[in-house]
Amino acid sequence: MLIIIKVDILAFGAHPDDVEVGAGGLMAVLAQRGLKVAVVDLTGGEMASNGSPEERNREAQRASEHLGLSWRKCLGIPDGNIHINSENILSMVKILRECRPTLILAPYWDDRHPDHINTSRLVQESHFSAGLRKLLPDMEPYRPPQVWYYFLSKAAEPKFIVDISDVYNNKRSAVLAHETQFGNKAGRVETFLNYGPGSLLDLMESRDRYFGSLIGVLHGEGFTTKGPLALRNPLNLLEVFG
Ligand SMILES: [Zn+2]
Repeated sequence: MLIIIKVDILAFGAHPDDVEVGAGGLMAVLAQRGLKVAVVDLTGGEMASNGSPEERNREAQRASEHLGLSWRKCLGIPDGNIHINSENILSMVKILRECRPTLILAPYWDDRHPDHINTSRLVQESHFSAGLRKLLPDMEPYRPPQVWYYFLSKAAEPKFIVDISDVYNNKRSAVLAHETQFGNKAGRVETFLNYGPGSLLDLMESRDRYFGSLIGVLHGEGFTTKGPLALRNPLNLLEVFG
């Protein structure tokens, strides 16, 4: 049984490859700097056109190694059927209170896939609920200080961009570890993920290069937040001028 240890950063995804695509670089950067990072996949991705649940689980574990994750958990919500209900919120609240991250990551709230939109909303709901003292009173309440949103099929102007150039091979390897989704072996069904120009892989690489170019590096990942980012020590920002 998976032991959920305390982590610094917890990323939520609807499907086992979402975090890799939207925030795999950030996860790898933070893991390499010694922070504890983990992923919760809401579903096992069993509705994907390619790959069995067992294959997808194995691929997710391999991808986790490329990113340096401390642990990864699948919540087992049915793929394509993610609802904003109290059962799902409570199971996410329990995880937040157990692993008490400083930062949580969620998919951006606008996307072509309803599962991504609902996951975004579920993270927002569970983030709030985790701080409510009278909810599950046997667990110490905890509301993570920060929520950042990563981009999947749609993006907005990012509030900030993280330089992921040094870990780009890790990100790419983590994404490609989901071979049933991004590989194009004979016999695979052609999908938005694995086929042709404009595929998700193309989109990811182009966007990472574009966001990188906006801050003068090779590859970058953009993020946004729902409110202003608090900067308690302005000196922390001076690094960008260095
Ligand atoms: Zn997805």
